[in-house]
Amino acid sequence: ACNDDELSEFLESGIYRFKNSNAVFIDPVRLLNRSHTRFRVSPSVYYSRFFESESKSKSKSKSKSQELEVYSDSKKRKRKQKKPHNLNERERVAEQRHQKVKPELLKAHEALLGSTDLLSTMKKLRSSFQSSTTEPGVGQSFVELGRVWQAPMYEIILNYQQSCVIDQCSEQRVLPLFNSLVANETNDDVEAEVLNRKFILPRGGCFYMISLVDMWKSELGQIHNLIPAESDCGFNLIVIDPPWENGSAHQKSMYPTLLNRYFLSLPIKQLTHTDGALVALWITNREKLHNFVEKELFPTWGVKYAATFYWLKVKADGSLISELDLFHHRPYECLLLGYCSREVSNLENQSAPRPVKDNQIVISIPGDYSRKPPVGDLLLEHAPGPKPSRCIELFAREMTAGWISWGNEPLHFQESKYFLAD
Ligand code: SAM
Repeated sequence: ACNDDELSEFLESGIYRFKNSNAVFIDPVRLLNRSHTRFRVSPSVYYSRFFESESKSKSKSKSKSQELEVYSDSKKRKRKQKKPHNLNERERVAEQRHQKVKPELLKAHEALLGSTDLLSTMKKLRSSFQSSTTEPGVGQSFVELGRVWQAPMYEIILNYQQSCVIDQCSEQRVLPLFNSLVANETNDDVEAEVLNRKFILPRGGCFYMISLVDMWKSELGQIHNLIPAESDCGFNLIVIDPPWENGSAHQKSMYPTLLNRYFLSLPIKQLTHTDGALVALWITNREKLHNFVEKELFPTWGVKYAATFYWLKVKADGSLISELDLFHHRPYECLLLGYCSREVSNLENQSAPRPVKDNQIVISIPGDYSRKPPVGDLLLEHAPGPKPSRCIELFAREMTAGWISWGNEPLHFQESKYFLAD
């Protein structure tokens, strides 16, 4: 049975903490809505996969994400049919890593399956608000827009509410779309326009969208020149979800990827606040990548490893999205946490945040392909330095209130089609 208080708290906050467990269940839609004042994220658009959706039977044509699911289902079947083979050295290490965390993941999953009230609430998450009437529109992606020669000329128009409180603010502001910091300094959602498409910018949210035209112009496409890393305004929380190469043709068609060596040059130390930063890095389950991060990337960045969080992916009925032991298709991903300090000597004695426990498990129903759950609020209590923490997300596809989002498409999920119609 499940605790009433926990459930009502979940409905408020989007976070359900299981008793005597290191696991939480989160509803990304509720967490994302914390960033917004006037607009609400559309649950039916967010949860376009992993719900035995009404829309599947309603609409005849399959959406892209539904096709994707079918695609991965058929792949899964193929994989399952494969005969077991002898593991090579790297696969053995990966298997050991998996076996080590497996009991924790199973415990977390059992906690979820034991919370019957939560389970019945989960089934309703997709339809918990009035349903959206906006049809997902089709427009060029920002990755494409940022590649054309006209990119430097594109603009974004911020349309402020009449009641806007900024000094002498006019009702509109026009800014370059690419390679400039665009901020909503108000305490309210701001509607913005790009090429006749509408976007919602959360209160206090900023984005810096790089155009890949400039990336290729810059020395060997060095990304670090394109991150506004100023030494006097560092960050206490740095969340990074890099476009790792993983060889899947499907992934390649979704967004461009970069070779590991590019990430070595990310200026993590320059981005770090004088009181230090918590660095949270999403990685895939490839053993080679674990190795690279542990042995090369974190040491190069000056990040000291602290803990691993696991994102366990479930369907609306609470079942795992794939078998736990499926070698190449685990139903979880890892978020590696570490601390970075401006000076090496400070790492030990910097103002200690709440110590971060290892093996915490965050359970949620996934959204779009490769979209990560919003874990910022769960990480904030572990960030060093003064509050409110200064936060940045690198390779972001969405904005968060009070954060800077950097990447080549940080406006992606801010388009009005991802929100409920007014
Ligand atoms: N965290 C995001 C989310 O939850 O939706 C997903 C990030 S995805 C793994 C990586 C992102 O990096 C993609 O948006 C991709 O287009 C972007 N990217 C690829 N190459 C880039 C580059 N050279 N500079 C900046 N961003 C790049």
